[in-house]
Amino acid sequence: MKHSKLKSQESVFVSFILLLVLFQWSCAEQTPMEQGRQVLQQAAEAMGGLEALSAVETITREGTKQRSSLGQARVASERLYVQPTRPYKQIIDFTVPREVEFSGSNTRLTDWVKGGYNRDSRHVRIAQIRQLGAYKKEWDRDIVTFLVGALGEESTVEGISEGRVEGRPHQVVSVRYIDDVLYQVYVDDFTHLISKLEYTEDRNPYGDLAKERTFADYREVGDLTLPFSQITKEMGLVTEVREFSEMSVNGEIQEDLFEIPEEIREKVASMAHLDTIPVTPIELDKGVFFGKAGQHNMWVEFEDFILVAEGPTNEMQSLEAIRQIRKTVGDKPIRYVVTTHHHADHAGGIRTYVAEGAAVVTHALNEEVIREFLTRPHTLKPDRLSQSEHEPQIETVEDRRTITDGTRTVELMHLPNPHSDGYLVIYLPRERLLFESDLFSLHEDESWPPPVSPATRVFYEAVTKAGWRVDRIVPGHGRVVEWQELIDALRATDSSR
Ligand SMILES: [Zn+2]
Repeated sequence: MKHSKLKSQESVFVSFILLLVLFQWSCAEQTPMEQGRQVLQQAAEAMGGLEALSAVETITREGTKQRSSLGQARVASERLYVQPTRPYKQIIDFTVPREVEFSGSNTRLTDWVKGGYNRDSRHVRIAQIRQLGAYKKEWDRDIVTFLVGALGEESTVEGISEGRVEGRPHQVVSVRYIDDVLYQVYVDDFTHLISKLEYTEDRNPYGDLAKERTFADYREVGDLTLPFSQITKEMGLVTEVREFSEMSVNGEIQEDLFEIPEEIREKVASMAHLDTIPVTPIELDKGVFFGKAGQHNMWVEFEDFILVAEGPTNEMQSLEAIRQIRKTVGDKPIRYVVTTHHHADHAGGIRTYVAEGAAVVTHALNEEVIREFLTRPHTLKPDRLSQSEHEPQIETVEDRRTITDGTRTVELMHLPNPHSDGYLVIYLPRERLLFESDLFSLHEDESWPPPVSPATRVFYEAVTKAGWRVDRIVPGHGRVVEWQELIDALRATDSSR
């Protein structure tokens, strides 16, 4: 008996060892890609299962949002324009996809098929294809659909490592996602929920831009478990905080919220499908052109060269503006691109002019930020400058500079103001034209009297004090304005006080 009992104990032991070996063997056989996949599957389980996540067609989130815009600080040495926390509601319909967002007095509608627009208290801005593309990426990477994409056929799990988020151990899965971006997905070892996504994407004028989005405060929403807090960082700085108080999935869509007003429907649709940013040249004087777009610029023909006032938006717009420059004033070299101020919307396209051989003329306070724009890596989406051998040239202005060849004169003057430091206004004395951005803008659909900011008053006083005689203001936003309209706007504001 004793003998046989020992034997059975022995066989149990042997079976156990065998199982252990088999288990280790199967683990060793699992590649890092398979392990990564398994971690993502666990994450999907923790959120309610892949099937339930795949069934999400719409999501409504309500709460607050606080944004800080990168590259829009008042001071050139800082990066962020910090905006207040506003009530916020978004409805995403992943089936189109499309989204409507209400934030303070802003309404933004973005429809991948029909186009998009943004309406604030002053006017309506129509979305360009690059903006629609950016939203498409946001819908794809929305946390409720992210794992459906990551575990789908169009994505590739590339590996797995270990990491920590706020001291907690995480598995970090590398996924080449459907948008071709490589994401590091941080999955909590204990909850199996996603704590963070890290990735790099292309953004003008920064090029390769490091981003991360952290998720917290997971709560039940129907059959799903979803985060009620999402914090986004860009270049290591917090640029968006969204805290939700209510969330619902697959609610009925209120079709009228997605309606595009009839008067702009055609324009919205035409902008949505254009893979360029149209620039319409308007001749202001002989050899002086207003480059009308969403954010405008101006070009001035000299005897032997061309001066460009501002390179707004991005390379897409600059390439179109350069095409129009060649059509209107020929192929003289573009020697200068002058920036009024360092804000990314007005300087996002300067790299293309630099690739053409232009020197950037800017106020001395902007030297560092402009150099950064011109030298940062653009490996994800190489642009003209990153592919050229060109050594970027920056020429700084302290107080004043005159650029003249005897036939044409452009004056630059430092204009300290509350909108942005390091600000240059651009004046053509003979033509009595003045180019500025963000100091005074009147939109086509503006109601009277327009809002007048403290910067507008400072601008008016500085130009008057300089003795400049201006007939027309050529703006970075809005329409060309008569100087008299500025005076009238100031008077109207004074009298309404
Ligand atoms: Zn600005």
